[in-house]
Parts: sequence; structure tokens; C-alpha cells
Amino acid sequence: MSTDGQDRIEAEHAFGFDTRQLHAGQRPDPNTGARAVPIFQTTSYVFEDPESAAAYFNLQEYGNTYSRIMNPTVAVFEERVANLEGGAGAVAFASGIAAQHAALFTLLEPGDHVVASSALYGGSVNQFKHVLRKMNVGVTWVDPDDLDAWRAAVQPTTKVFYGETVGNPGGNVLDIEAVAAIAHEHELPLMVDSTFTTPYLVRPIEWGADIVVHSATKFIGGHGTSLGGVVVEAGTFDWSNGRFPVVADPSPAYHGLQFHETFGTYGYLMKLRAETLRDLGAAMTPFNAFLFLQGLETLSLRMDRHVANALAVAEFLEGHELASNVRHPALHGSPYRPLVDKYLPRGAGAVFSFDCAGGREGGQDLIRALTLWSHLANVGDAKSLVIHPASTTHRQLSDDELRAGGVGAGTVRLSVGLESVDDLIWDLEQAFALVAAGHAAPAVAR
Ligand code: PLP
Repeated sequence: MSTDGQDRIEAEHAFGFDTRQLHAGQRPDPNTGARAVPIFQTTSYVFEDPESAAAYFNLQEYGNTYSRIMNPTVAVFEERVANLEGGAGAVAFASGIAAQHAALFTLLEPGDHVVASSALYGGSVNQFKHVLRKMNVGVTWVDPDDLDAWRAAVQPTTKVFYGETVGNPGGNVLDIEAVAAIAHEHELPLMVDSTFTTPYLVRPIEWGADIVVHSATKFIGGHGTSLGGVVVEAGTFDWSNGRFPVVADPSPAYHGLQFHETFGTYGYLMKLRAETLRDLGAAMTPFNAFLFLQGLETLSLRMDRHVANALAVAEFLEGHELASNVRHPALHGSPYRPLVDKYLPRGAGAVFSFDCAGGREGGQDLIRALTLWSHLANVGDAKSLVIHPASTTHRQLSDDELRAGGVGAGTVRLSVGLESVDDLIWDLEQAFALVAAGHAAPAVAR
């Protein structure tokens, strides 16, 4: 079909999520007719003439220059994620941690301040505590459930609120609409890490978030093969409100360009790409973008199964005498159930934690005795995964920080995969039985 024809249909008909996860951002390759997105494995692009080259580098015209800044395969991934999230656009990165750093770096200057949920992924806590400190940016940690704490933490130098849709691994659900409203009262953007929920389960922009970041490494890729991250911006935040000279004023790093005035809705995203990605260099590879596109094609189908399996496993654990404090936010007894009903009607994801009887040893013995669950430091794989956060992903955190993040000595985190759920429960049952009998098996790599 011609491009004109496709544009007309898109203008007349609002396509559903399942259709957009397969088609958004891509037209079959006009040169070859290739239906799959081609992997443009190239560093650079031949310019038509010196004038076009200059116009591209001046950002007067949009054209491919160099794959550290843009690449046609990566562009399809970016456009598809932006479409699924309901954002103005997206910029992809080499990892989730690179994406969130770049998203913050673009709007922060030395002396600034960030208000962040205390229940973040351990790697994010490290990044905020150490990397932001090196940038002379202060952080105030708040209990994400305490709306007054978000409000009270704002300082004259505060530039952004930061939280996770569902905390890792505490399972707290962010009241996105309420926290966004407080941020906006102070003319600040809300940045949300939606890695655990993906655009299928919640679209934070619809609830007032301004910037959404993802580790695509997890459910978006979905098969544990590739590292990647992506930043999506709503395009509605007023970066010219006086608090963000770094986005609004003439930029010394781009010969005096005023990104917000020049690009409006796309000002922040253009700065994120043309300056931050250019200068920090953590670009997504075209091959990884291709794999993430394969992941996105089945996102809704996989997430439905992840969600159903995870709830069944959580309900099993809730009834087990060697498990306690099962922190799955969709369980009936969970304090987060009202927020799940509001924000996550399709389910609260597939990553949650619980406490094992016997503390640290109990948790580690259980992991040793499992046979089907893979013991590793990732989440969001099609395969089921298990880890002991206090000795691994959250190892650098102090006792107070562990408590704030909902991690105890015996806490075990599960990322529930797509296997037959009976097999997952069977494996947990046999592992608990071994632990109870004092026969934890020696570790075997799975
Ligand atoms: N955000 C969350 C919630 C995560 O769980 C992780 C990694 O585990 C990241 C961000 C960082 O992503 P990546 O490992 O792709 O850098």
C-alpha cells in the first residue's frame, strides 16, 4: 500500500494495542519489500551533497548522519515504543541504566536536586547515590506511598520526581496521577521507570507522567538475550517555565541552539538525542533493536501469560507455611490492591518477592533446591527466574536502604515466566520440601 494510503487509514481508524505492537513505526522497506524490519548494520550514511550534510548536522533537516545518534532499525523501535506509550517520541539506549542516566543528565545541572522513591531497583539507587553525587546533584529519598513526603521534599533546586510503576522488588505501586499532580504543582516533571509493567499494563503518560524510561532488557525484549533501554517523553511539559535553562536557553554544546523554542514538543527529545546521546555515546545497536522489535510483536500475549502465572504462583506461596509476606500487589490482602485496580487492570506484572522461613540461609537453600527456576540477575525473561536480592542485586545497599526497598535477609525475588504454571509450582513445592527436610541440594547451574 502507498504511504499516502497508509496515512489516510491511520487518520481514520484508531488501531488497537495488539495491532500497533506489530506495525507501528514501520512501513515495509520501499527498496526491497522486506516485511521484517531490516537490520541496518551501518555506522554512517552517504549524504546527497554537502548542503544536505550541513542541514542534517544543523538539525534544520532530519536525516541520518551517524549511528551513535540515529539508525533506521533503532528508529523503528523508538517509534513503536513511543506509539505504544502514547508519547511524542522516544530515544533508545544501550541499556536501561544508560537510558535513565541520559534522561536525567539532559535536564540536570550541577547544584540541582532530585526527589526519588526509596523503593527503586538497587542499580538505580547506586546510580542516584554515586553518579548524581559526582555531578553535584542532591537526592532526597521519599517513601513513594507518602504523598506528603513527595511534596515536603521539594527544594528550590529540585528538577524532577522519579519513581517506578511497580517497585523492584518490594512490589509497591506508584500512585502516578497523585505524584504527577504534586510534581506539576511545583512545575516539575515526573519521570517513571515502567520496566516491570511495559506499555501493555500501564501507560504512565495517560496518568500525567512526563517521561517514561524502560529497561528493554526485561519484558520488552522478553527472552533474556539483549541489553537495551528507551526514554519516552509525553511532549507536553513546559521546559520554558524558568526552571530549566539547561533545556530552554541557548546551548553551548550545540552552537547556541535553543532546543525548546526551536523544536517545541520535541525539544527535550532532540536535546536527549543530539547532545546527550551524541556525547555519552551509549547507543542501542541495530541488532538489539531488531531483537526488541521481535519482542514487542508478542508483548501483550506474553504479558497476559506472565501475569496469570505470577498470580497463581503468588497465591500458592501465600498458602505455604515456609513463605511469608508475599509482596504481589494484586493479592487480595495487598495494600496496593486499590492502586492495581486503578492503574493495572490487566495485571500487576510478574516480578514479586516473598520472605523465606529461616532468613538468609532459608532463602539461599530454597534457591539451591529449585530445578526449573533459573538462578540469575535478571527479570522479564520468558523463563522463570529467581534470586536472593540482599546478597546480589541489592548488595551495595545499607540495612536502612534494604528495608526502604522492601528487602529482608530471607527475601527471595521471582520473575515468573511462561512455563506451564503447574510445573513452576511443583518445583517450588519440591524445593520447600527439601529445605524443610534439611536436604538442600548442592547448587547446579540452571
Ligand atoms: N530499571 C529496573 C526496574 C530494573 O530492574 C533494571 C535492571 O534490572 C534497570 C532499570 C536497569 O536496566 P539494564 O539492566 O537494562 O541497564
